Amino acid sequence: MNVFLNGKLVKKADARITVFDHGLLYGDGVFEGIRSYNGLIFKLKEHIDRLFESAEAIELNISMSKKEIVDAIITTLKSNKLTDAYIRLVVTRGAGDLGLDPRKCKGATIFIITDKIVLYPKEYYDEGLYIIIANTRRNIHEALSPQIKSLNYLNNILAKVEAIKADCEEALMLNRDGYVTECTGDNIFIVKNGMLLTPPPDAGLLKGVTRRAVMDLAAEEGITVKEEQMKPEDLYAADECFLTGTAAEIIPVIKIDDHVIGSGKPGRITGRMLERFRELTKVDGVKY
Ligand code: PMP
Repeated sequence: MNVFLNGKLVKKADARITVFDHGLLYGDGVFEGIRSYNGLIFKLKEHIDRLFESAEAIELNISMSKKEIVDAIITTLKSNKLTDAYIRLVVTRGAGDLGLDPRKCKGATIFIITDKIVLYPKEYYDEGLYIIIANTRRNIHEALSPQIKSLNYLNNILAKVEAIKADCEEALMLNRDGYVTECTGDNIFIVKNGMLLTPPPDAGLLKGVTRRAVMDLAAEEGITVKEEQMKPEDLYAADECFLTGTAAEIIPVIKIDDHVIGSGKPGRITGRMLERFRELTKVDGVKY
């Protein structure tokens, strides 16, 4: 497997960075998770734009242009002969000294890993997931905006540990005020009275690329989509619930804490959205 690292393709075993990289020492960096389907990179522009927005928010200078990054992704995919892939694009502050000061870093470290996509088990899609609401609250916006896709995932990992202890796959995080935000690596939607509801970005969540795609597809289907603040009670009383993310696509949720959602089976609108989403991935993307 070849990895793109700072301008060159190198073998996996040679894809190493220094222990003085601030991405490692401080989680000082940003990343994207992107997916390709049958030789088409899904929503590539949206992911690249979000990477640059995340970088700008932390005043990190990416020493490559958007076009150069796109070319590097394609070169890496082709060199690994991957047509269906998971693409991890990472930009760190680069090598510095042991202090926090980003000015000590000589330049960003940029790497791209492309690998076979690890699919979630089919039963997740057929039967739906059980999730919990974590005690860990989502980072407050004023401290570290959840809209920055940074290398600091400890907030999410703490919630994920709670999920693992509860023997389930995902945990939902509330914000400081007790409103619903998102899961550790996915956004959340509910269906209520035929409408699709999802929390607004200012609740404190990452504006997922899949979330946006689902909102657009729902509108095309004539389904009303609203961004609305939600409390746990709203989730418990939902007719349907599902999670969205690049890796997960659309996964139904059938139980939250002790509450069975709807009929306890993946709902009709969820199924329709997944069908439409999968159709979209076949046609919408940058060809390579
Ligand atoms: N929220 C968080 C915290 C995430 O890490 C992710 C993606 N990994 C998402 C939501 C979903 O975003 P996207 O649809 O862009 O993958």
